[in-house]
Amino acid sequence: MICPDCRTHQMQESRETVRYDECGLSNVALQGVRVRKCPGCGNQLISIPSLDGLHRCLAVALVNKAERLNAAEIIFLRKSLGWSKADFASKFHVRKEQVSRWESEQKAIQMTVQNELLLRTLVAKGQKIEHYEDHLEEFASKESCGQSFLSMLFDHKQWSVNNPLCPC
Ligand SMILES: [Zn+2]
Repeated sequence: MICPDCRTHQMQESRETVRYDECGLSNVALQGVRVRKCPGCGNQLISIPSLDGLHRCLAVALVNKAERLNAAEIIFLRKSLGWSKADFASKFHVRKEQVSRWESEQKAIQMTVQNELLLRTLVAKGQKIEHYEDHLEEFASKESCGQSFLSMLFDHKQWSVNNPLCPC
């Protein structure tokens, strides 16, 4: 295809691993996605297939993790429920400032494990994740090491997590 920006050069296509910071999580990489680059003006187009499927897969990975959720992950799950901060506050019977603290990177206040499990359970229910309740004792049972990384692979028309979440 011709570059839509400069309308001069033919775009060069390759498969690359790209970061997906746009989802709000800073530790997600997408493997083997199609990247088109213009050799003339440097314009770059990244195609992410099945965005809904990718977001579902990320939500499943977060809901099922043994480590506590960080602020960005809480925001991601809250948004996956379609909730504003105000919705979150009213459904959890807390003030909006409380939600802001849960969602703050500075971690002024960590969610209680019970609240965190409730959030995960609501997402699991919405995403129809099977057997979620069977492993509640494992979820949110460890402190996060801060090094978990999600490397996502698109294969056979679906997304999957291609590495363990936590390297420890
Ligand atoms: Zn161009």
